Amino acid sequence: MIVVFVFILGLFVGSFLNVVIYRLHRQESFVKGFSKCLFCGHRLYTKDLVPLFSYFYLKGKCRYCRHRFSHQYPLVELATAFSLSLIFITISPSFDFYALQPGNLLQLLSWWVITSFLIVIFVYDLKYYLILDIVIFPIILFSLVANIFLGYNVGELLLAAIIGGGFFGLQFILSKGRWIGGGDIRLGFLMGIILGWPHIFTALFIAYIIGSLVSIFLLIADKKKWGDKIPFGTFLTLATFITLLYGDRLIDWYLSLFI
Ligand SMILES: [Zn+2]
Repeated sequence: MIVVFVFILGLFVGSFLNVVIYRLHRQESFVKGFSKCLFCGHRLYTKDLVPLFSYFYLKGKCRYCRHRFSHQYPLVELATAFSLSLIFITISPSFDFYALQPGNLLQLLSWWVITSFLIVIFVYDLKYYLILDIVIFPIILFSLVANIFLGYNVGELLLAAIIGGGFFGLQFILSKGRWIGGGDIRLGFLMGIILGWPHIFTALFIAYIIGSLVSIFLLIADKKKWGDKIPFGTFLTLATFITLLYGDRLIDWYLSLFI
């Protein structure tokens, strides 16, 4: 079935995203050079790099030095595979790739690209508390062009972007940069470009709900102390993905509570 192929494609995309995240951090090129073990430096071959399969076959360890690899690798591969499959199922409920209209196909591809970038931002912010310009600027440009082709109104997209960026810009100014970083401002701008008006509000709302729940959990579980740094970009990217797929349905559901 085609969903299985999409899932496997997602595993490979996720595997590539892991390489991107790793090499962005080490400031290496992610198109040149071969993969090496982080610990022993041994070259990793195709058989060591099959997404998910190699990790479980080798029990999460390097074949050459037996050092344990991070859980990040299989988790990012699985998360990417699930996300890309979910997008495919949402856009093509009949699971029929060939029945897709050109507009739907463009939407599918653009959501796949956007989501891949969101996953990189999510993991990078979670690991390093940083949102890189080299990641965010290309995807702002891509999303803008894709959404214009998909028939969005440019003015509304920019308005949503200014609301998203301004929301964090204001907090940045008020807190003199203590609550949030400049990366969050650019991420807010990106959210507006991806989601447009009025879903920028939906996403911000969802981000704060997720952020509060996770923070409460971390405080109770003693993983964080009051006032500790929280990688807010992770909540924002997750909320953007949820809103992208289910924004309309969530708003309908929310409004139905009051009518
Ligand atoms: Zn090794």
